[in-house]
Amino acid sequence: MVQLDFTLSAGPTVATPRTLAALGMPITYHYDPDFLEAFRRTERKVAELFRTTNDIVLMQGEAIVGLEGAARSLVSPGMHVLNLVQGVFGKGMGYWLTDFGAVLHEIEVAYNEAVDPAAVEEYLDAHPEIELVTLVASETPSGTVTDVSRIGPICRARGVLTLVDTVSGVGGMEFLTDEWGLDVCVAGAQKCLGGPPGVALVTVSAGAWQSMLANERAPRSSYLSLIDWKTKWLEGGVFPYTPSVSDMHGLEACLDQVLEEGVDASIARHFASADVARAGVRGMGLELWPASDDIAASCVTSVRLPDAVDHIEVRTHVREHYGVMLSSGQGAGNLIRIAHMGPTASGLHPVVGIAALGRSLVDLGQPVNVGDGVEAALAVLSNQQ
Ligand SMILES: *Cc1c(COP(=O)(O)O)cnc(C)c1O
Repeated sequence: MVQLDFTLSAGPTVATPRTLAALGMPITYHYDPDFLEAFRRTERKVAELFRTTNDIVLMQGEAIVGLEGAARSLVSPGMHVLNLVQGVFGKGMGYWLTDFGAVLHEIEVAYNEAVDPAAVEEYLDAHPEIELVTLVASETPSGTVTDVSRIGPICRARGVLTLVDTVSGVGGMEFLTDEWGLDVCVAGAQKCLGGPPGVALVTVSAGAWQSMLANERAPRSSYLSLIDWKTKWLEGGVFPYTPSVSDMHGLEACLDQVLEEGVDASIARHFASADVARAGVRGMGLELWPASDDIAASCVTSVRLPDAVDHIEVRTHVREHYGVMLSSGQGAGNLIRIAHMGPTASGLHPVVGIAALGRSLVDLGQPVNVGDGVEAALAVLSNQQ
């Protein structure tokens, strides 16, 4: 196997030297005044990124801990919940909701499409018993997005709470928590922020806290508890458990870089790289996985593979022969994903992904025109300069 030269996977993505240096800072006592100050500063930076004045909870243990903790905290037995499904993370949320005692309603579309906000509006009007809507802003395995800017206000206008998985959304696409009226949002650091895997960034509105506190089944004195974070840390200044000191420094460093660049500039960079990748895919004669460009994610380009090759086989070949790590379909279908996420949403990165994928498909006997793909990608890149 050749050495790994490029990580173009859909999270964890690469971290910059500055982020890596921060991860290597001295490990201190978590009540050291310097660490306490760093933790508070980091919360404020997360709020800035999310464009919110809501409370911020930083949990360690991956974005999933935030998603599960939030779902468990919000759902009480018998509560009617509408779950929007356009990929594997949305589908998984539905299994959880049922498990936690919710009466599950779902709007589900094919994993290469997006749920229509008008369908959500219609469903909520027909089912006033629904108290919570769960959705995924950027369904990473499908490489598609949901229109949170429309769904959020539809829910808020009806007094319905929202739980939004924006793990691969924030930093790579517009995400306006307060303007869109979103109640609980969860992100990770290892996607568009280029930070370490191992922290969950959670925003919680006043209405969501009220609902959690009224829920007897919400986790308390538990690793999954959001309420503990509110009562012990936000109100009492005492950590429920020891935060990962190193991950917090890494998180602050990657937030600093995004905020110094500007959130809008970071988003534009992701869209620019997505344009390069899409042109390359089409130039090679391959098809994009998303049904249309307007629902294609900015952080990852999903490519539909010819039936004759399997996504794991392709991912393995690309890594072994060209030292490039791409992502496979992760349950969404026979597709391969070139991510342009965090630091890899720049310059030639997507072109490298196109070249390595294209030549691998040729190696595997597929009629792909690598040269045309690279040319098309470069032409878009050239016009961006
Ligand atoms: C990455 C990701 C998560 C978190 O999954 P992990 O396996 O814990 O990294 C959740 N939702 C979405 C949409 C993601 O992209």
